[in-house]
Amino acid sequence: MKSFIERNESFVCENCGITVTRHPTSSRDHCTACLYGKHVDYNPGDRLQTCHGLLEPIGLRVKNGKQQIVYSCNSCNEKRYNVVAIDDDIQRLTEISQLPWQ
Ligand SMILES: [Zn+2]
Ligand SMILES: [Zn+2]
Repeated sequence: MKSFIERNESFVCENCGITVTRHPTSSRDHCTACLYGKHVDYNPGDRLQTCHGLLEPIGLRVKNGKQQIVYSCNSCNEKRYNVVAIDDDIQRLTEISQLPWQ
């Protein structure tokens, strides 16, 4: 089975089905359209997590001057945080920024 968001490469989003292109500078860790990710890391980029549940975006926070998407894993309920990518959908980011995730 083809793995999802394994490296910085394009992938098909498991939530909305679009093909997400590679990140221009960093590792692509979530869909730019619906912002969903996948639970594959213990620490950012290590891909050692075996859960592989879908990460649902539930809010936005600012940490160290960077906007981060707050995720809740659909499978194990762990909270995860991914830095916003420059080509993420602005309207979707605005929507989740209004969610009371805390
Ligand atoms: Zn998507
Ligand atoms: Zn999980």
